[in-house]
Amino acid sequence: MGTLKSVGFKAVGMVLHRLGILGFISRLVDRLQKKTGSNAPLPFPLIQKRVSRPIQILMYHGIDDAWSPFLGPAPIRGFRNQLRYLAESCNVLDLGEAVERIQKRDVPHRAVVITLDDGYRDSYVNAFPLLREMELSATIFLATAAIGTGKVLWHDRACWMISQTTVSSLEGFGSRIRYELNTREGKRAAQEGVLWYLRSLEDQDRIDALEQLSTHLQVSGEPDSEPRLMLNWEEVNEMYQSGIRFGAHTVHHPILSKIPLSDVASELRESKETIERHVGCRVTTFAYPSGRPEDYNSDIKGIVKQEGFACAVSTVTGANYEGDDLFDLKRVGYWDQDIGPFGLRFEYSRFCA
Ligand SMILES: [Zn+2]
Repeated sequence: MGTLKSVGFKAVGMVLHRLGILGFISRLVDRLQKKTGSNAPLPFPLIQKRVSRPIQILMYHGIDDAWSPFLGPAPIRGFRNQLRYLAESCNVLDLGEAVERIQKRDVPHRAVVITLDDGYRDSYVNAFPLLREMELSATIFLATAAIGTGKVLWHDRACWMISQTTVSSLEGFGSRIRYELNTREGKRAAQEGVLWYLRSLEDQDRIDALEQLSTHLQVSGEPDSEPRLMLNWEEVNEMYQSGIRFGAHTVHHPILSKIPLSDVASELRESKETIERHVGCRVTTFAYPSGRPEDYNSDIKGIVKQEGFACAVSTVTGANYEGDDLFDLKRVGYWDQDIGPFGLRFEYSRFCA
């Protein structure tokens, strides 16, 4: 069903773009929205005059075309096409500015925020030139243990081990599932399954499980520091000078609900202070590592506030409105590679938002 809907979006989006009527649809969506409180599968005739201005926060991680031993980055072409659509039709704000506008109840028309998580070097090499060319700002969340240190985050180490292993299968690790590791597809499935399992563990258990994974896969050590996976501070500073903004994403990227609250505070404080020291800016935005509802809670939200942040984003899908909890901001990820399908999906989600 999901696949059918996706194919439908792609085909219809291509046609609408080719016919040049996506702009007309976007103007309609500016005036109309799905009737609030309606869960009907078909919007028509449950349409009302637009009463709310959603802010959509788009979420990206890696942006690269090259095959990666880490969890697959999104292709550059799709990112470029998505930016082109946003540049032509939206008000792109950085997250700090968006939060100020929400607080002042002054959200602009078609407000969008672009965010990139973790601090991959391809944010600088691939995403930054496109953002600069289209004069768009973005907010990049840095997990500071991996910035300018040659280190990688734990989830990338797990993916790397799976990509490097020569054993033919992984069995008896975490769950009863057996992963075949003879093909790239098999390894990709194993990466996702293993990450899902690791995220479910208490912090020390996760650290121990990574070592067990290393034994199972007969891969030891760390990925080579060249080619470099993560940003360094020169790159961060250069992007900052050109209007890119930076938010904190902890030091070590732990799942915050799986570590003691005192450690939550130090992870937040240290990552915030490290960015402020290197960049000379005030850091007021935060992204919860992994960001699913089970990865943070109200105590953790309280600590984020206490540590001086103005907002925090999750990975829960949805749009944001004036009056929403600024420490529970939703985001959305689009995988469309072409302008038409992306534009149609973007307008449809604004219509339903
Ligand atoms: Zn992350």
